[in-house]
Amino acid sequence: WARPGPLYTASDPLELLGAWAVEFFASWCGHCIHFAPTWRALAHDIREWRPAVIMAAIDCASEDNQQVCSDFGITGFPTMKVRLCFFRAFSKKAEDGIRITSEVKPLVSGRAEHPADAQAPAAVPPVSCSAEEVRTFFQRNKDQYLALIFEKSNSFVGREVALDMLQFENIAVRRVLSSEEELVEKFGVTTFPSGYLLFRNGSFSRLPVHIEARSFYTYYLRTLSGITRGSYKLNTTADGPSCRAALPSFKLYMADLESALHYSLRVEATRPSVLSGAQLAAFKCYVATLVKYFPGRPSVQTYLQNLDSLERHFRGYPCGLWTIFHLLTVQAAQNEAESWGEVLSTMRCYVRNFFGCQECAEHFEAMAAKSMEKVASREESVLWLWSHHNEVNARLAGGDTEDPKFPKLQWPPPDMCPLCHKEELGVHAWVVPAVVVFLKAHFSPANIYMDYAE
Ligand code: FAD
Repeated sequence: WARPGPLYTASDPLELLGAWAVEFFASWCGHCIHFAPTWRALAHDIREWRPAVIMAAIDCASEDNQQVCSDFGITGFPTMKVRLCFFRAFSKKAEDGIRITSEVKPLVSGRAEHPADAQAPAAVPPVSCSAEEVRTFFQRNKDQYLALIFEKSNSFVGREVALDMLQFENIAVRRVLSSEEELVEKFGVTTFPSGYLLFRNGSFSRLPVHIEARSFYTYYLRTLSGITRGSYKLNTTADGPSCRAALPSFKLYMADLESALHYSLRVEATRPSVLSGAQLAAFKCYVATLVKYFPGRPSVQTYLQNLDSLERHFRGYPCGLWTIFHLLTVQAAQNEAESWGEVLSTMRCYVRNFFGCQECAEHFEAMAAKSMEKVASREESVLWLWSHHNEVNARLAGGDTEDPKFPKLQWPPPDMCPLCHKEELGVHAWVVPAVVVFLKAHFSPANIYMDYAE
């Protein structure tokens, strides 16, 4: 199966139809309200499967939609339908959300395997693979890598990883069934599922993952050298300044933190010619929080207290700003005596008053307005910032501002914190207590690298 050249591309003003998973709901229906978080979670989980799979929802309570809902024979809410290019339909009625997630998702990803039988879009590869296809793969394709996921026939991992990697170039993913004896023997496979990576020179290696599961395979494959996101871009509303991670991911660098601190204090916060009113209060509040919690060198502490002169310097500023606030929330959480809400409200105030990227500030304010006041403990304030930073990462992933060499990933990725990740019914989930432990260790003074020479 050779991948055909695209007839239409992302620059064409049309939407390539793949499989559509549609929830027919009524805004007044209690079950639908109850089910919405599940449908939303699934939509987030498979957002990168577009354009092969597109999730949607239609409100049958709206008069404008009544004809459509009746054409589809909707008699109860919520009802899920998975349609492939309008030729075949499968429908499920939701009695409980969890069951539906585990049913609809395989239905959606299962479509990837039969492109011919229902006019699937060219973007969807057939993923199960024979020994002959593996042998001739690199002769027929320009890809740098072929990933093989060995699995039992009732497993969906291979299909899901194939869909996860759909938008990425230089790699193809195929599932190999455990009944494919020649391949199982050739690779010495004893565990199902397990993943292998084949290179153009004929060599191969086992995918070194902590858990044999979809999100671990996908993360590893996306971070391989030479793997880039293709031309299909997700629709994101955000565009703001993007900077590549100045910080190597396993350590915090004091030089970077100080440089962001410096930029925020000396450039951004002093951009208004006169600081007064709310801006002055925000500035004072920011400096007071830094004095309390920023684990700086004595000279920096003195500087913070005196706000004396330092050289002007810009480097990785937004990244440094996130890092500073993560550090501050963690430090405040360790400090039992202090009020836990002050760091988040200081950050909100700072971003609203000074953060140079207007659109970023507006997005941040919208997130804060929605949920920041609900934060009810020190630990929750650490988690609020972490999860909302991830919300920004997710919004920017695949957008125009993403640096292909530094993809916006949900953080911390599995190689940084394997214990932070798990899968529930095939959907990635965080192990929140492990995330808390990780954040406290990562954003601790002990993890700050002080060598200014590097
Ligand atoms: P960053 O996202 O800046 O992260 C810095 C470091 O923090 C990473 O290297 C990593 O070690 C760590 N990290 C990553 N994720 C998390 C997490 N969830 N929890 C804890 N630590 C983490 N840009 C836009 O284009 N649109 C926007 O709307 C937008 N809003 C922003 C709002 C705020 C308040 C800030 C500070 C920045 C915003 N930005 C926005 C900029 C954007 O979020 C990034 O800062 C920028 O693109 C640089 O990204 P980066 O890859 O260097 O890492």
